[in-house]
Amino acid sequence: QGLIGERGQFHVRASKGIHLVVPKDRIHSSTGLILRTEKSVLFVIPWGRHWIIGTTDTDWDLDKAHPAASSADIDYLLQHVNSVLNTPLTRDDVQGVYAGLRPLLAGESDATSKLSREHTVAHPAPGLVVVAGGKYTTYRVMAKDAVDEAVHGLDQRVAACVTEDTPLLGAEGYKALWNARARIAARTGLHVARVEHLLNRYGSMTEEILELILADPTLGEPLPAADDYLRAEIVYAASHEGARHLDDVLTRRTRISIETFDRGTRSARLCAELMAPVLGWDEGRIDREVQHYEKRVEAERESQRQPDDLTADAARLGAPDIVPI
Ligand SMILES: Cc1cc2nc3c(=O)[nH]c(=O)nc-3n(C[C@H](O)[C@H](O)[C@H](O)COP(=O)(O)OP(=O)(O)OC[C@H]3O[C@@H](n4cnc5c(N)ncnc54)[C@H](O)[C@@H]3O)c2cc1C
Repeated sequence: QGLIGERGQFHVRASKGIHLVVPKDRIHSSTGLILRTEKSVLFVIPWGRHWIIGTTDTDWDLDKAHPAASSADIDYLLQHVNSVLNTPLTRDDVQGVYAGLRPLLAGESDATSKLSREHTVAHPAPGLVVVAGGKYTTYRVMAKDAVDEAVHGLDQRVAACVTEDTPLLGAEGYKALWNARARIAARTGLHVARVEHLLNRYGSMTEEILELILADPTLGEPLPAADDYLRAEIVYAASHEGARHLDDVLTRRTRISIETFDRGTRSARLCAELMAPVLGWDEGRIDREVQHYEKRVEAERESQRQPDDLTADAARLGAPDIVPI
């Protein structure tokens, strides 16, 4: 948009939303919950061995790379969820906290919770298609709308979009593998619950993980401090999923950073050592990756002790991004 000046610009506002992760045994419920709040709704969602509680919805104009959750954000969620729980949750029950920014198309309203969650496509100048807003569950429609708009301006004919019939990576063959999960467990020596975990995460790409384990059976062992995950998943993140740094693995390819009370710090060194041969890391690089991750976790913890956005942002900025070499 910067290239075409002010004409026909989309204005996007960042709205911060944070979520809490607590262990499954802290809330005794057989269903998820949706609660009304003054401004919006609050979800309590079962997720693996945890509950996810969220979310907040507040304007954010500070650092966009690392939105920080403040103490006020966490208290807001605890206060609302505690209004319906027999045994209230405390800060000590919180395993993980994560914050994100919704890119909302700016409109009439001041409150971000009132802005549209829809996406919009525009073609403000020849050769430039802009798509803004939107959400995860509609990403294929967003992509289709944007590509259709781009194709509109081309001379040659382009075949109609087939996104609706294109399976996700790992979807093809998934159901047959799921039916065969007991046999896969017997063949590989993994517990059937492990095979289910892999199928749930990777679909039919699970075969590639199993190949890694076949070549090196130690990769079939779980991580001691995050035992939902096998060592092979860490190697796979580096060899097949484009992970380049330790925090890619602990926060993005897996969710260890929000699934453990230590926020992944107890798994950091082992994970870096598993990634090292794939990415050609020496001892010095392993140390740097671990130190960087520990600093990041400490900065996030510190930001979550701060009273408001400004102080939380300042604390989070204490841990700079790792510099590629
Ligand atoms: C609080 C909140 C609630 C939401 N609720 C919903 C909902 O209920 N339903 C829904 O459908 N959508 C929801 N969304 C929107 C949804 O999360 C996003 O649309 C979706 O995550 C966008 O996916 P993405 O892969 O495009 O980008 P992202 O998920 O943002 O992924 C981009 C990734 O790239 C990484 N990255 C950035 N720069 C670099 C770099 N230089 N090098 C390497 N990596 C980099 C980032 O760390 C990030 O992991 C919500 C968003 C928020 C913030």
